[in-house]
Amino acid sequence: MNSQLRREYLDALGLKSWTLRTARGSADAPSLVIASRAQSAAPAAPAAPAAPAARSAPSPVRDVSATREAGADWEELRARVAACTRCSLSATRTQTVFGVGNPHADWLIVGEAPGAEEDRRGEPFVGRAGQLLNSMLHAIGLAREQVYIANVLKCRPPGNRDPNLTEAAECLPYLERQIALLKPKIMLAVGRIAAQNLLGTEKTLGALRQQVHRFGLSQVPLVVTYHPAYLLRTPTEKRKAWEDLKFARDVISRV
Ligand code: SF4
Repeated sequence: MNSQLRREYLDALGLKSWTLRTARGSADAPSLVIASRAQSAAPAAPAAPAAPAARSAPSPVRDVSATREAGADWEELRARVAACTRCSLSATRTQTVFGVGNPHADWLIVGEAPGAEEDRRGEPFVGRAGQLLNSMLHAIGLAREQVYIANVLKCRPPGNRDPNLTEAAECLPYLERQIALLKPKIMLAVGRIAAQNLLGTEKTLGALRQQVHRFGLSQVPLVVTYHPAYLLRTPTEKRKAWEDLKFARDVISRV
C-alpha cells in the first residue's frame, strides 16, 4: 500500500502523526502469553519477542475438532446456523449473521454479536463500526476481502445487550467449527465480550491487550483490541487500537 493511501486510512482512524517503529527488538515487540478459553494466563513479562516459550502452561481446552459441529463443511455449517433455535435469540432475530470473508484467510476477526444493522443485512460489522473496522484493517495493509469476520454470537441480542452465558455457550461451537475450517494464522478479538468469551476470562480488555494469547488445541495466536463501536464513542482510545493492530501484525509476521 502506498504511503498516501495509508495516510488516508490513518486519518480515518484519527491518527495523523503515526511513525512506524521497527517491531523486532523494539518496545513494541510482542510478549507471549498462553491462554485458552478455560483460563487466561498471567500477563507476560516484557520482551521475549519471537520465542514461543510460555511462562504458564495452557489450561485444558476443548478440542475444536471434537465440538458439536465437527464434520460440518462451510455449507452445512451455514445451514445449521440459519436454522438454529438453540437459544432464545432465535425468537427475536431478523436473520442469523454467519460471517463473511475469505475462507482461506490468515486473519480471523471476531466480534461480539450482530447489532441492529447487521441483523437487518445479515453481515457482521456493517454501518459506521464496520467502516471503521475496514479503515483499521486497511491501515495495516489488509482489505476486508482478505480477512474473515465473524461474531461469537450469530444472532442479535435484543437492544444490543451483552450476551448471557447460556447464549454464548450454545453459539460458540459454531465459531469453533469456523475456526477449524478456516485454520487462521491469527485471531483478533475485538471488544471485551468477544475477548472474554474466547479466552474464558473475566479480565478487563485493558488487562488482555498487548499479549499473545492462544486459542484452542491448535493454539492459534489471539490478540485483543477495542471494538470499533467503542472507538466511535471514545475516539481517544484509537491510538491504543492502532498499537494493538501493529502488535498483531508483528505477531503474524513471526508465525
Ligand atoms: S445465537 Fe447462536 S445458539 Fe442462539 S439461536 Fe442464534 S445461532 Fe443459535
